[in-house]
Amino acid sequence: MSADKTVYLKDYRPTDFIIETVDLIFELGAEMTTVGSEIRLSRRPGSPADAPLTLDGDSLELAGLALDGKPLAPERYEAAADGLTVHGLPESGSFTLTVKTRINPSANTQLLGLYRTSGLFSTQCEAEGFRRITYFYDRPDVLAVYTVTIIADKESCPLLLSNGNLIEERNLEDGRHMAKWHDPFPKPSYLFALVAGDLAMIEDQFTTMSGRAVTLRIYVEHGKADRADYAMDSLKRAMRWDEERFGREYDLDIFMIVAVSDFNMGAMENKGLNIFNDRLILADPETATDDDYLRIEAVVAHEYFHNWTGNRITCRDWFQLSLKEGLTVYREHEFTADQRTRPVVRVDEVKFLRANQFPEDGGPLAHPVRPTQYLEIDNFYTTTVYEKGSEVSRMIATLLGTDNFRRGLDLFFERHDGGAVTIEDYLKCFEDATGRDLSHFALWYHQAGTPVISVQSAYDEAASTLSLTLQQKTPPTPGQKEKKPLHIPLRVGLIGPNGDGMEPSAVSGGERTEDVLHLTEAEQTFVFKGIGARPAISVNRDFSAPVKVNFEQSRDDRMAIARFETDLVARWDAINGLALQALVEATAAVRAGTPISVDPALAEALIETAGDETLEPAFRALALTLPSELDIGRELGRDIDPDAIHAARRTVFGSLAREGAERFRQLVDALSGDTEFSPNADSAGRRALRNTALAYLASATDEPGAARAAYDAATNMTDMIAALRILAHQFPDAEETAAVLDDFRHRFAGEPLVLDKWFGAQATIPGEEALERVKRLMQDEAFDALNPNRVRALVGAFASSNPTGFNRPDGAGYRFFADFILDADKRNPTLTARLMTVMRSFEALEVGRQAKARTELERIAGHETLSRNLRDIIDRMLK
Ligand code: ZN
Repeated sequence: MSADKTVYLKDYRPTDFIIETVDLIFELGAEMTTVGSEIRLSRRPGSPADAPLTLDGDSLELAGLALDGKPLAPERYEAAADGLTVHGLPESGSFTLTVKTRINPSANTQLLGLYRTSGLFSTQCEAEGFRRITYFYDRPDVLAVYTVTIIADKESCPLLLSNGNLIEERNLEDGRHMAKWHDPFPKPSYLFALVAGDLAMIEDQFTTMSGRAVTLRIYVEHGKADRADYAMDSLKRAMRWDEERFGREYDLDIFMIVAVSDFNMGAMENKGLNIFNDRLILADPETATDDDYLRIEAVVAHEYFHNWTGNRITCRDWFQLSLKEGLTVYREHEFTADQRTRPVVRVDEVKFLRANQFPEDGGPLAHPVRPTQYLEIDNFYTTTVYEKGSEVSRMIATLLGTDNFRRGLDLFFERHDGGAVTIEDYLKCFEDATGRDLSHFALWYHQAGTPVISVQSAYDEAASTLSLTLQQKTPPTPGQKEKKPLHIPLRVGLIGPNGDGMEPSAVSGGERTEDVLHLTEAEQTFVFKGIGARPAISVNRDFSAPVKVNFEQSRDDRMAIARFETDLVARWDAINGLALQALVEATAAVRAGTPISVDPALAEALIETAGDETLEPAFRALALTLPSELDIGRELGRDIDPDAIHAARRTVFGSLAREGAERFRQLVDALSGDTEFSPNADSAGRRALRNTALAYLASATDEPGAARAAYDAATNMTDMIAALRILAHQFPDAEETAAVLDDFRHRFAGEPLVLDKWFGAQATIPGEEALERVKRLMQDEAFDALNPNRVRALVGAFASSNPTGFNRPDGAGYRFFADFILDADKRNPTLTARLMTVMRSFEALEVGRQAKARTELERIAGHETLSRNLRDIIDRMLK
């Protein structure tokens, strides 16, 4: 709340003391757990001889404090819930501080620190959760070797897990038992983990490239063990891939994953003991969609990859968060691309970035990939730090080439293994390994905002030259008014009149490597020589830079790119761009009260692409998927009227559907009836195309029969939920829809994760009645306002993905959401602050809704007792 809590990068300094080892003893009790912590410390050479030891704490109760075994006199220390200060410690040599705290895991609804839900004890320590367990230097640059003893009732907690290797296990009196774990790798406190309870387990083995056997275990709720196979398979593929692609081998004898049902985020890379949101582990064909499988594969790999990028080499401070997250997302993206089809995977990444990171970067919460200040670090686990950070590493790879990138990364591992380092340290490795100066490029880490590149072209027939003038401009963002030009690697392709690619004989005006133009100035003109005919110009192929491109191209040029570009990402982008333009025009027509006309050439191109057998089904599905209502709103950027957008999109969708009805029916028929389910990319792509076609077909026939039949015939969750969504969204009032929703509810009565899909499908049914529907669903006994997955599936989906329902003109959607946030903030601030961000672009709404939204945001801001997380977000949103 007060500005003095702000943390600044410039204030970084190392701790006065060094922690060598930590011995923890947990005596687990549901309402009362005692934590004994024995820390071996010494004064850091050069730090003042009289400096006190100041440890972090959060909501702690001190139950004992001793120095080298002797209780400390009260005048030697000050203990508060949020910190412990000890005076008069030895000037030299090591000493041992023994700290005892008491905590209540059952009362911990924040899900940060040690918490107990559904009978399971588990921890979440990143970023600052360890201080809710014991007093400690809870910061990433303090690396220590941990030994952990866990004592608990054996019957309710047969399983006792922590990081590293199990070194002792034995029964105790009174039905209790103990287990002792030792992690030989020094680690920061945020990577500490403990799990205790009663779980099922699957086990496998992995032999590393140097021939060491590693035991792999995945723990899940009883009765769900057969749903962990895909996660295990993904893990083994990730381990092999990291060896082959980056030479990274696993380092402990055991690697464990635990799936928990109450978790704020996706998953957590604790050393040797990853903890996952169970929705990112559990999958079988009957309960998980293709998208779930994809996410499981990606996140299992992501957390595994952290073992080297994050754990072996960690962050000096939280400003460096992207050092581990951006790089690890990049590694994850490369893995997924290698496991599936590269351009299809890339299109998904582009869509995600545009839908999530661009709005963040263009709104009140914009911040650099490497921020310089924060009030609450929890709020910086953002798409900018993660996905834009990944794009920055991708651009380094583009600038240097694959081999040089690998060389730089090898040096990084060699030089910094065991260290807590900065983004500068990371960049220096690429410079030292390749001799390339990255000082200009580094600005990507420090300057927020999405650069806009304006393109102008001129073709000179007589001289056979094409000049391409590129201008870059990055809009102002909070705290950064003036922007400098960046070093932007931009892939550009030329498509000749017959659809073939054109190669210039020479290019002047700036550095060029292969098809990459290096834009380094505010404005630069590249001249391509030896261009015999006027080409269509494809800019930002493969989305080589995370930028917006402003290029007024003729429809013919865009069609040429849509048809002939060999880079499928650019090809998709051209198709998508044409569709988006049509939808924007249709929205304008709705608002002006004029009729909507859909360009027949666009319809033809889409329908043709849908049937193009030379393209893989997944790509065709992407091409056929119209930009969403949210995409259209973002494209408009201001004065957004969600009802007009909805009406426009519905009309365009319907007209495409009728136009292509024949083709859609063929596709549905041809692609139905795969009996053997395989989660592989190819099968998933066929299902995606079939279900996209089914949605069009339902609209073309304007009756629910086909979708109802598809629901009944479905043999997997992907097809089932697709049919259900078509019914719910296109025919909300049909009898068929009611019947299917009811069937689904009963069929999956004991399956919270599956019911999340049911909540989500209904939360996003467009229209005014959505709010009442959501309120009704909150009364369903499967809803649980304390569980983050349930909240996101229902309230989150409503607020983020139901533009007409949430943005009701009377403001009732905002009021409901604000009430929910205010209530939930008392229990789980991480969750509420995150939820709140869905309203960050409220100023882009038309004035009436904007005013109503502002009223509710101001009402929230007016509460005195907000969590720091929510206070930080709301204040920045209203600035
Ligand atoms: Zn991560």
